[in-house]
Amino acid sequence: MTELIFATANSHKLEEVNKVVDPSIYSLKNLRDIGIFEDIVEDGSTLEENALIKARYVHERTGFNVFSEDTGLEVAALGGDPGVYTARYGGPQKNASDNMDLLLKNLTNHSDRSAQFRACIALIFNDQEVLFEGIVKGKIAKTKSGVDGFGYDPIFIPDGYTKTFAELPSNIKLEYSHRTRAIQKMFNFLENITK
Ligand code: IMP
Repeated sequence: MTELIFATANSHKLEEVNKVVDPSIYSLKNLRDIGIFEDIVEDGSTLEENALIKARYVHERTGFNVFSEDTGLEVAALGGDPGVYTARYGGPQKNASDNMDLLLKNLTNHSDRSAQFRACIALIFNDQEVLFEGIVKGKIAKTKSGVDGFGYDPIFIPDGYTKTFAELPSNIKLEYSHRTRAIQKMFNFLENITK
């Protein structure tokens, strides 16, 4: 059994990751489980830096093997924004509805609505730091639709579909998402080094 801390307090991320983890191979704990309740300040200038900040914070305090994940929504017509500012795009209150409203407003006069979610995972395993990336491409809808998922899911339509992540059955998001893709790369890496 490989023990890993997932350095997050985001219940949606935990739920998604727990669904793709094989519990016979991995025992996952989150920040609350190990008694870390404070907000970890994510002041990096890239998703990679922010993921490393969170993983290093936990590793330095506990010595445990740990991974963290930071996601950005990158919109082509906005030069890759909101990117590293995805969580606080609509203001410091970090409210999903405010974030989506501002993004829809800023895209009003753009015909190119292509976008991607990019997840960066930072793993610290046996004191070695490794980064993994997962991307899902799609486009930004004209309006919010659907109630499932979280964050920007009501306005993100993945390529190959006509509905948003918040409207599609949750197994579709689980199968194709940026997060699942990055997690799978991490598990492949761990499988090889723990063989
Ligand atoms: P963070 O990775 O927790 O910093 O999240 C950055 C921002 O992206 C937050 O506003 C999240 O709600 C949003 N976000 C992260 N993952 C997803 C996702 O899978 N779907 C929709 N929004 C997401």
